[in-house]
Amino acid sequence: MPGRNFLFIPGPTTIPRRIQNAMSVEQEDMRAMDLPEFTKPLYEDMKKIMRNKDGRVFIFPSSGTGGWESSIQNTLNPGDKVLASRIGQFSHLYIDCAERLGMEVIKVEEEWGKGVPVEKFAEILANDKNHEIKAVFATHNETATGVVSDLKGVRDALDACNHPAMYHVDSVSGLASIEFDMDAWGIDITVSGSQKGLMLPTGLGIVGASKKALEINKEIQGCPRCFFSWEDQIMANDNGFFPYTPPMNLLRGLRESLNMINEEGLENVWARQNRMATAVRKAIEAWGMTTVATEPKFQSDTVSAVRVPEGFDGNEVARHAYKYYNLALSISLADIAGQAFRIGHMGDMNELMVLIPINGAEMAMKDLGYPIELGSGVAAAQEYLRNTKTDRLA
Ligand SMILES: *Cc1c(COP(=O)(O)O)cnc(C)c1O
Repeated sequence: MPGRNFLFIPGPTTIPRRIQNAMSVEQEDMRAMDLPEFTKPLYEDMKKIMRNKDGRVFIFPSSGTGGWESSIQNTLNPGDKVLASRIGQFSHLYIDCAERLGMEVIKVEEEWGKGVPVEKFAEILANDKNHEIKAVFATHNETATGVVSDLKGVRDALDACNHPAMYHVDSVSGLASIEFDMDAWGIDITVSGSQKGLMLPTGLGIVGASKKALEINKEIQGCPRCFFSWEDQIMANDNGFFPYTPPMNLLRGLRESLNMINEEGLENVWARQNRMATAVRKAIEAWGMTTVATEPKFQSDTVSAVRVPEGFDGNEVARHAYKYYNLALSISLADIAGQAFRIGHMGDMNELMVLIPINGAEMAMKDLGYPIELGSGVAAAQEYLRNTKTDRLA
């Protein structure tokens, strides 16, 4: 089939040629004497992306889900109380993971389209006088609904009542894309993965641990663990090596990804992602539609869930675009299945690229009888991008 498939789902994302080339290397000896010269700076740079100065980073051959598992196993005992909210399919699965590992999860239900319910958390934490809650879980960017949460707000809720619980954050689809700061926001655990903002193939489960999380890991027994043990990683990582065979190609790719992010500047990456997301939101507005995110403050800069009008099936838009235009948009899941389709715009993205899913979604919706004007979304996004352009050679 001529032409290419356009991938605009919220992970995996498009892999830049530079990263593909960096991964295309011969297999190598994972015990080579000069390997630490490669691995040690890699850990340090990964810590910088998380703004995690005094803690550490663990990189597992896994995915985001493995990161959840590792962070829970190494810092919580079975039976521990955890406070979490269910705001979309990924926060739902995060809770499911904790429960299957034996945690007692206090689940706060919240409308899908809103962020982590900071005020309800504040109330529950303030009432937990005996500090039975050992950790608070928050999903930075709920990929299923295209919602970003107020992570600082959760920190403030903990501080307001001097609650000592650990603060665990899933930033699988937020890291390296949306403002994030473990140190400033007092985050103890960050879970991420390789195939979203880091622009790599799936295959790495990345966990950031604060100094406090590392101390708790030493003090407690935790859950039974082997593959995801922090102790085993620390012992090997401190010398620049791994407790089992590392996925070297992915690590070479991660090196290149961090180089690209550092060349652009992390804050410039965040600003670019915001600009790409705003272009998509202009298009949605021009179609006369809304995001699943109920308020602008909840709108994610990495993925937009487009709410479709009553009587339409959003998942049909994704199927139609794939079938007729070789464009991969994402379906909506679980509680909102069919009510929306999602456009992923994280990672390797620029002006003309972000117009592609807008263009394709518009064609698909028109084909399916949506009451939209052909070209309206593309024009609105073009206008915004033209008005906010900068000289990339300056
Ligand atoms: C993708 C994603 C995950 C799951 O990660 P896998 O790599 O698929 O295991 C978890 N949380 C969020 C918010 C995600 O977007």
